[in-house]
Amino acid sequence: MDLTEPLAPDAPAAPHSASGERMELHDLAGIAPPARAAGPGRRWMPRRVVATPAAYDHPHGLRIMRRLAERGLEVERLSGNRLTGVRGETDRETYARAKSTLAIVVSPPSRRTLQPIAPSADWRVDLAEGCPAHCQYCYLAGSLSGPPVTRVYADLDDILEGLTAYAGTAKRRPEEGTTFEASCYTDPLALDHLTGSWQRAVEFFGAWDENVQLRWTTKFAGVDDFLALPHAGRTRVRFSVNCLSVTTRFEGGTVRLEDRLAALRRLALAGYPVGLTIAPIMALPDWQEHYGLLLDEVAHAVDGVPGLDLTAELITHRFTPGSKDVLTSWYPRTQLEMDESSRDRKHGKFGAVKYVYPRATMTALRTWFEQELATRIPSCRILYWT
Ligand code: SF4
Repeated sequence: MDLTEPLAPDAPAAPHSASGERMELHDLAGIAPPARAAGPGRRWMPRRVVATPAAYDHPHGLRIMRRLAERGLEVERLSGNRLTGVRGETDRETYARAKSTLAIVVSPPSRRTLQPIAPSADWRVDLAEGCPAHCQYCYLAGSLSGPPVTRVYADLDDILEGLTAYAGTAKRRPEEGTTFEASCYTDPLALDHLTGSWQRAVEFFGAWDENVQLRWTTKFAGVDDFLALPHAGRTRVRFSVNCLSVTTRFEGGTVRLEDRLAALRRLALAGYPVGLTIAPIMALPDWQEHYGLLLDEVAHAVDGVPGLDLTAELITHRFTPGSKDVLTSWYPRTQLEMDESSRDRKHGKFGAVKYVYPRATMTALRTWFEQELATRIPSCRILYWT
């Protein structure tokens, strides 16, 4: 496989925001491992690390290699941009090998032109592509186009410098400045202990004296290295949260909800603007009770934080015909409800079909979340509902 080929298509897309309209679908039937139960907090360690020759020409590529060496990980220098030895005897083995491989590469030049990323931010900026976790509803599932090796970008310094041209282009929520979403095709805290890329991005935005904001969302909790960074309040870290019956059943390889909320509290105490990405909201039996417990846990986590700046992004579960095919082939025993007959069929902005909850369910969910957030966590601002 050619590591310069992006995993996800270069077309504008919003997979992690779950808006899903531009998801280009590829058939990955049969190449995913079975579902895994969500485990306790832990940090991903790849089994194999490779680097393209071009990655050695970039200071950040060398920084990543030093960081990996300190963790006892050996980096294999490739002779070109092609990665061999990923294919296994079966598709499943290929998938498992790819998911445990980290590649240090230079980002595709097309990524220098940023794409809008509604509704999360004005612009999408990629520092990596791929994720070692196994969420059974993963929005990336329909967007990947080959063995999902996680690629981290060696040309980080150039990527960050390139952002300066976009200052002053805020359209989405002007009060937050020009916003840059850095978790569209990856989970930052799943990888930052291996790359330091998001730490550098936080420092870059901290020193960038403009009305700008870096944003990302995560299901991990490794925030120790971020607490003392000079962030200047220009990075909003959101934690992707859900009720326990979703996090424990459908979010394999991520960290526990309580660890995410503890990490949110620590960042908030360190002065970061923080947020909740409540996604995907599922209309499970007794959903009010399940989500009520979640909101109470959040309220407890942010209790007494001075100057708390907390937002919520509320995203209901939806699927497309293609993403359903991919996900049910990746996770054949999944209990995830994807029943077209119980959903409303909608056409996204670009004509793609998606299945969302019926209008009455959507209204009930939305009304409940708006009321209960206002009651249980009054300081929390809702940024959008979808
Ligand atoms: S954390 Fe889960 S949903 Fe997010 S990219 Fe990784 S596997 Fe997908």
